[in-house]
Amino acid sequence: MSSVVPTRKTSPPEMASIAKDPAGKNNNKDTIPEDLNIPDNYVAWALKNQKELPPVTWDNLFQNINWISLLALTITPSIAIWGVFNVKLRTATLVWSIIYYFITGLGITAGYHRLWAHRSYNASKPLQYFLAVAGAGAVEGSIKWWSRGHRAHHRYTDTELDPYNAHKGFWWAHIGWMIIKARRKPGVADVSDLSKNEVVRWQHRWYVYLLLACGFLLPTLVAGLGWGDWLGGFVFAGAGRLTFVHHSTFCVNSLAHWLGETPFDDKHTPRDHMITAFMTIGEGYHNFHHQFPMDYRNAIKWYQYDPTKWFIWTMQQLGLASHLKVFPENEVRKGQLTMQLKKLRELQDGVTWAPEVQQLPIISWESFQEQSAKRPLIVVAGHIHDVADFLDEHPGGRHLLTKQIGKDATTAFFGGVYDHSNAAHNLLSMMRVGVLHGGHQHGLQDKAIPPSQRLRVARYNELTGSPYASSAWSDGEGMLS
Ligand SMILES: [Zn+2]
Ligand SMILES: [Zn+2]
Repeated sequence: MSSVVPTRKTSPPEMASIAKDPAGKNNNKDTIPEDLNIPDNYVAWALKNQKELPPVTWDNLFQNINWISLLALTITPSIAIWGVFNVKLRTATLVWSIIYYFITGLGITAGYHRLWAHRSYNASKPLQYFLAVAGAGAVEGSIKWWSRGHRAHHRYTDTELDPYNAHKGFWWAHIGWMIIKARRKPGVADVSDLSKNEVVRWQHRWYVYLLLACGFLLPTLVAGLGWGDWLGGFVFAGAGRLTFVHHSTFCVNSLAHWLGETPFDDKHTPRDHMITAFMTIGEGYHNFHHQFPMDYRNAIKWYQYDPTKWFIWTMQQLGLASHLKVFPENEVRKGQLTMQLKKLRELQDGVTWAPEVQQLPIISWESFQEQSAKRPLIVVAGHIHDVADFLDEHPGGRHLLTKQIGKDATTAFFGGVYDHSNAAHNLLSMMRVGVLHGGHQHGLQDKAIPPSQRLRVARYNELTGSPYASSAWSDGEGMLS
């Protein structure tokens, strides 16, 4: 296999399976940032030059299965399912299984994910050891291996260099990427900071023993020594709990890239959803997370479910965690506002507006009066309106309109006779057929612009040349169409 980095001889950390994760064999050489010498066009370079394995077909499927991962991910739930039908579930064991689910789950979410992969806060040594041990009990590979993959996921989200590229389908992102050997290596991501961390090194070195001890032995021992339920401890707190922890965290790669809203950005697949948050101990606000990955929070509202955030905050109160990173509120709001404006723009584009001033002919007063003899034209705020279709619809009666034909009704319209509603003003603007030459000074600008158009969502390249400041008001004589 060729190296990810073209200018270095050392090969990057193995794209290992869950259980194949190397136990401390390639330390110390990785203290130089992995991505120090990558070309500026790395993504294009990697996609072009790095070999891709041939597609998986029925013929080569057998050789392309990652058997250790497959067995780990099938035997564990099989034991749990067998236990459901053959082992009595005792209340104490059930409670212990749920508690241990949260302990090992937090090892991944608060430890592997927010502490090590994203450095979103600092943890004291005791807390680090606790999270490293708890995380090992979730049987998802060592901190170092896991974080390397996760950093690549953030860096190359939704591309071929993303190890759990959501564009390859829900099940690929959920579990397929672990069971089928990857067609190409994940993009380069530096974990040299983790190589220097003594807790991460310790966990990497003893990973296989920690996995067995925390994944199966400890949950069995607690139930066995605690209340004599050895088999129940193994089946429910061990295998059953592990199955839930697995699929709970796998949902961050699948469900969180598939279900929900994009309140902060819609460039990539990550989404926010309460259901995903409940499934993943609070990692369900994934749209926020991909925008602000170094924030220790996933949920920014107090009522949103994010126990991982509550855990980190509590650790801070206990003096075990510090430097909790929070992205500037002002920048978070920019993202939210952009997405809201985008939605409003769609709404705006679905509405029919009054004709633009530039599209209307400029008519002299004399011409206006002449043409008023043939059709019901009324001037309001510098604009000429054809009210033919509205005469019988006018709530104040036909007579109030007919007496204004060929005249300037601005004063009457704006309160002289009746102070028309915004809706009436908007509707009037739809009847515009011309602009009165020299008529604009007659009304203030806010009378010429319909209320619905005073605030509009404009793209950056639409901001210049407001129609009311353009040459549309220059001298000219036109005919109404
Ligand atoms: Zn993601
Ligand atoms: Zn992340």
